[in-house]
Amino acid sequence: MIIVIKPGVTENTSAPVFEYIASKGADFEVTKMPHGDIICVDDGNMALDAAFLEGLDAVSSVMRVTEPYKLAGRKFHPEASVIDVAGKRFGGGEFQIIAGPCTVESGEQINSLASAVKSSGAGLLRGGAYKPRTSPYDFQGLRSGGLRLLSEAKALTGLPTVSEVMLPEHIPLFDDVDLLQVGARNMQNFELLKALSRTDKPILLKRGFGNTVRELLTAAEYIMAGGNKNVILCERGIRSFETSTRNTLDLSAVPVIHKLSHLPVIVDPSHAAGYGAYVEPLALAAVAAGADGLIIEVHAEPGKALCDGGQSVSPDVLAGIVKKANAIRQIIL
Ligand code: PEP
Ligand code: MN
Repeated sequence: MIIVIKPGVTENTSAPVFEYIASKGADFEVTKMPHGDIICVDDGNMALDAAFLEGLDAVSSVMRVTEPYKLAGRKFHPEASVIDVAGKRFGGGEFQIIAGPCTVESGEQINSLASAVKSSGAGLLRGGAYKPRTSPYDFQGLRSGGLRLLSEAKALTGLPTVSEVMLPEHIPLFDDVDLLQVGARNMQNFELLKALSRTDKPILLKRGFGNTVRELLTAAEYIMAGGNKNVILCERGIRSFETSTRNTLDLSAVPVIHKLSHLPVIVDPSHAAGYGAYVEPLALAAVAAGADGLIIEVHAEPGKALCDGGQSVSPDVLAGIVKKANAIRQIIL
């Protein structure tokens, strides 16, 4: 952190600045300048409060020179991380497609979709059991029963599974789930992030629809700071003034995250688009932008889906996306 002191301040006025730095145990160096001294502070632990310092009489301005995501950032970890989810690898040149229904509806539904996902060539099966729905009157998911059916579909196909966890108390129920999803609405549920940080499960952290990339990376930092380094990030669209799609897919987040972080980033074109017809073009654009994977909602009969039918694609469309995504990867690799 760099603290610029106002020109001509007395030692008495600047004393609270040095007392505050000392109280945080941070090392510092002062450079005397004619238009105000400059204090360089080694604030590796992010202990200093810039706003507090800016409020002190002696201080002209404060600049942070390090980002608040030391573990998730590329600065101290320049090589890309590869995250292994039950043998399926994401990042550092490894690419995976996750597909399945928004929510598990019945044994028959998840088993037949799981087989379709497998024959499409996608590598992992998604299926929500605990659903964060905007309305309390909407289908809330089959909950623990849904997780049991997802396990059966996993046993049937051998596909590793992905499902959303919403409460720290539910984590033990997800023992057989291979990749635990933190949904957009929970990206800043810090108690959930801290609880997940104490597990060794790979985590799929989705970007909140009102959150910046920086906030996504500091949310990832919560999981990593607690000891769990297995984090995959997901861009799934953000709120904008545009209403013709459910969200606005921020594809620039892919190269931006790759610049700032070593963690893999995948794209969810389904929740971004909100309409099945837009899923394929967005998915292929995401691959071209360098995404480390995709997560796509699929349903055999979208009109009958209990959740997110309108944005689900058919198994046939999924198979086409997998084929084209692999072809694009050959070009960009
Ligand atoms: C989902 O994956 O079904 C979901 C609810 O996603 P998001 O949190 O991105 O809205
Ligand atoms: Mn959904």
